Amino acid sequence: MSAPNIETIVSLAKRRGFVFPSSEIYGGLGSAWDYGPLGVELCNNVKQSWWRWMVYERDDIEGLDSSIILNRLVWHYSGHEDTFSDPLVDCRNCNSRLRADKLGYQPSDEELKDRTVGEVLPTAIRERRVACPNCGSKDLTEPRPFNLMFRTHVGAAAEDDLSSLVYLRPETAQGIFINFANILTTSRRKLPFGVAQIGKSFRNEVTPGNFIFRTREFEQMEMEYFVRPGEDERVHQEWIDGCFEWFTNLGISADNLRLYEQPKEELAHYAKRTVDIQYRFFPEREEQERQWDELMGIANRTDFDLRTHSKKPEDAEGKRLNPDSTEDLTYFDEATKERFYPYVIEPAAGVNRTVLSVLMDAYSEKTNDKGETRVILKLHPTLAPIKAAILPLAKNKPEIVGMAKAIKRSLQPVLRAVYDDTGGIGKLYARQDEIGTPFCVTVDHQSLEDEAVTVRDRDTWEQERVKVSDLQEHLSNRLKE
Ligand code: ATP
Repeated sequence: MSAPNIETIVSLAKRRGFVFPSSEIYGGLGSAWDYGPLGVELCNNVKQSWWRWMVYERDDIEGLDSSIILNRLVWHYSGHEDTFSDPLVDCRNCNSRLRADKLGYQPSDEELKDRTVGEVLPTAIRERRVACPNCGSKDLTEPRPFNLMFRTHVGAAAEDDLSSLVYLRPETAQGIFINFANILTTSRRKLPFGVAQIGKSFRNEVTPGNFIFRTREFEQMEMEYFVRPGEDERVHQEWIDGCFEWFTNLGISADNLRLYEQPKEELAHYAKRTVDIQYRFFPEREEQERQWDELMGIANRTDFDLRTHSKKPEDAEGKRLNPDSTEDLTYFDEATKERFYPYVIEPAAGVNRTVLSVLMDAYSEKTNDKGETRVILKLHPTLAPIKAAILPLAKNKPEIVGMAKAIKRSLQPVLRAVYDDTGGIGKLYARQDEIGTPFCVTVDHQSLEDEAVTVRDRDTWEQERVKVSDLQEHLSNRLKE
């Protein structure tokens, strides 16, 4: 079982402290969310899993943490200033502001002959064949580009001083490309190799929403893998397969994941091929095709980025294409004595969308002996915010409380453990099940005699007696299962 819809997760997340609406006491801020005590642990665990898989468990990847605010020229030459925009339309009837490409307009094959959806859409809107989803009106303005980059100014400059204009990065990738030569020199890497980065990105989305699925501030886990041209297609496919497997290893059911090959008209201008991994974020939707949306994208970005940031490339008249760059981002192959721009394969995932998909996928319900329905969050143990909850059976018995607290202290250097005595044992178990804690450790009267505790399993509700002296090893082993 998985969550029937995102709303179920929104309410669980608020109730239990995973995610709160941001700025709530001032009425909120559209589509901004804050990660609470459990949410921050879950996010950190997702990021750590990715970093371990991507950087530590391989021999060919380095890490990086580049600035969020970069020189504006980076976004000029990357193409973002000119092309990083969504087509915006307004509904003249209800004043909604909408993304034209998300209006659900399905052009016919005849219309698409030699043209893209973006080209046929304005005609369809003009001819009133497209309706606003909010009010049904067909009185829409023509699409116009809306740049998604957030602007700000550095230093004590006037707001209209263009020389101080900068952007908050809309992707982490460019920070990697502009450091290509630094990393190559300092790490002495040979192709193929990659550079991974996790960090915040910002996009002034026209239509954010669906909880943490689309927000204006979000976190990305991106890796740029540099290869010899000619090897790009094979390596691209390997990363597509590897990333799909990573999600299933995180416990996400393969039934709720699928690959989506971006058609030519959807491809970014620099991409040769892009495959998205989609998750069934909207299982409640009747139309099968509308149940899926992007969890991550894996793009073959060709040599576009390294070339565009390099000082050498020239146009037909011998004029430098990038007169501002001071570096040539080529690679010299010692063996073949060739110099060239490597191709780039980019697996790019969202932390927040990964968190949403693991929460949805882990959601399940179970009925107890009394006929009460309980929520169990069957999170992969690696992702669970808390690994073990230590619960005293009698909170008014100082010896039991003392023993439970000592057990918590002994476990905390190796795993995230909490002590809780704020309710009856049934309630405490239910609370831990609902937040995905794999194990509850109960200290009872008997424990004072036999130096043993009861370990209860979240998924089976089965209990076993374990010696306190073996507990740390026992839990560590079971967490690895
Ligand atoms: P979409 O088509 O959903 O806008 P995208 O194709 O523009 O996404 P990419 O540029 O490929 O997204 O970014 C890589 C990943 O970053 C996405 O797969 C997604 O997980 C995450 N991401 C992108 N935009 C957002 C956002 N506004 N909120 C949350 N996560 C996002």
